[in-house]
Amino acid sequence: MASINIRRDVKDSFYRYKMPKLQGKIEGKGNGIKTVLPNIAEVARALSRPPAYPTKYFGGELGAQVKIEEKNDRYIVNGAHDVNKLQDLLDGFIERFVLCGNCKNPETDLIITRDSSIIRQCMACGQRSDVDMRHKLATYIIKNPPPKDKKGGQHASAGTSSGNGHAEGGEEEGDPTEEMDRLAKEAAELEIDDDDEPVARRQKALAGNFTQGDEDEGAEDPYDLLGDYINAKPESDLDIFNKAKELNLYKKHRALVVVVQCLFTDPATIVKDVAKHATLLRSFGDSDKHQRAVLGGFERVISESLDALLPKVQPILMALYNADVIEEEAFLEWGKKPSKKYIEKDVAKKIHKAAAAFLQGFY
Ligand SMILES: [Zn+2]
Repeated sequence: MASINIRRDVKDSFYRYKMPKLQGKIEGKGNGIKTVLPNIAEVARALSRPPAYPTKYFGGELGAQVKIEEKNDRYIVNGAHDVNKLQDLLDGFIERFVLCGNCKNPETDLIITRDSSIIRQCMACGQRSDVDMRHKLATYIIKNPPPKDKKGGQHASAGTSSGNGHAEGGEEEGDPTEEMDRLAKEAAELEIDDDDEPVARRQKALAGNFTQGDEDEGAEDPYDLLGDYINAKPESDLDIFNKAKELNLYKKHRALVVVVQCLFTDPATIVKDVAKHATLLRSFGDSDKHQRAVLGGFERVISESLDALLPKVQPILMALYNADVIEEEAFLEWGKKPSKKYIEKDVAKKIHKAAAAFLQGFY
C-alpha cells in the first residue's frame, strides 16, 4: 500500500509519520451515485482518529450526505468525488483536528473538556491547543467523542500504522461508559419533557374546565411570550436563548417550533439562515423530540409559503443536516410517513414528496 507523509507539506521521505494514500471508489449512478472510501479506516488509524471524523468532515466540506457504518467498515460520501480532491480536503482535517497547534506533530489526543470544548493534547511537546469550535465537525465530535484510552494510547504512532486490520475494529462499539452517559442524558430529557405530551396537556386543560375553570385566565402562555419576543427582533440569538431561559422554556422541544416559526420568516434567505441560527437550534437539546420539533417548525414555515419554499425543501434539509441540527436517524424517522402533527396532512405529503431525493440519500 502506498504510504504518504501525514503532513504532505513535509517533503522529507524519512519523515516518521506516514499514512496510507486515500482511496476512493465511485459506485452507483444518477441520484444514487456515491463515493466509497475503502481504506478510510486505515487512514484514520494512522491519524488515531475514528474513521467517522474524516468522513463527516468530507461531507461537511462538500455539502454532501455521508453514510457511516462502523460495524461493516463502510464509509460513504454521496455524489461522485475525485480522490485527489478528497486527499486535499484531508489535509485540512489533519491541520484542524490532528496536528499539534504548537509543534505540528501528529501525535495528539483529542480531549473534550467539561465545558464542551475540544483540545489537542500533544504527546511530543506536551502543549494543549484548542480546536476551532466554530467548525461544523466540532459539534459532531462533541456528540460522538473519541473512544477512551485504548491500550497503548490512541495517538498517532510512527511507522506501524498499517497491518492488523480488523483487530482494533471491535473496540469501537459498545463502550459502556458512553452508553451510560447516553442513557442518563435521555432520562434527564424525559423528565424535562413530561408535561409536553399533547394528551397530557389536553387532560390538564379538561381538568381545569371541570374544576376552577377560570384559574388560568389572564396568565399569558410562555410560548406566546417567547414568540412575541422573537418577533420584536432581539439583537442576538443569545438574547433569544436567555429569554427562553427566563420563561423556563430553554429545554422544551415545543419552544423550538416557536423559535423556528418566528425566526425563519424570509423565504429568500432561509437556507443561509439555517447555518446562522444553528447554534441556537442546537442549544435547546438534541433528543428525538427536539429534532422532530425543529422539523415541525420548518414544516409550518414551508406550509405558509408553499410555492416559494417547496423547491427549497431539499436545500433546507441539507442545511439542517450539515449544521448537525438534525441527524440521519431523525430524518429517517420523520421520512417514514407524512404526519399531521404540525400541519395539514395533504401539505405534509407535498413536503415529503419534495424531500424524497434527499431522504433517498440515506439509503
Ligand atoms: Zn506539540
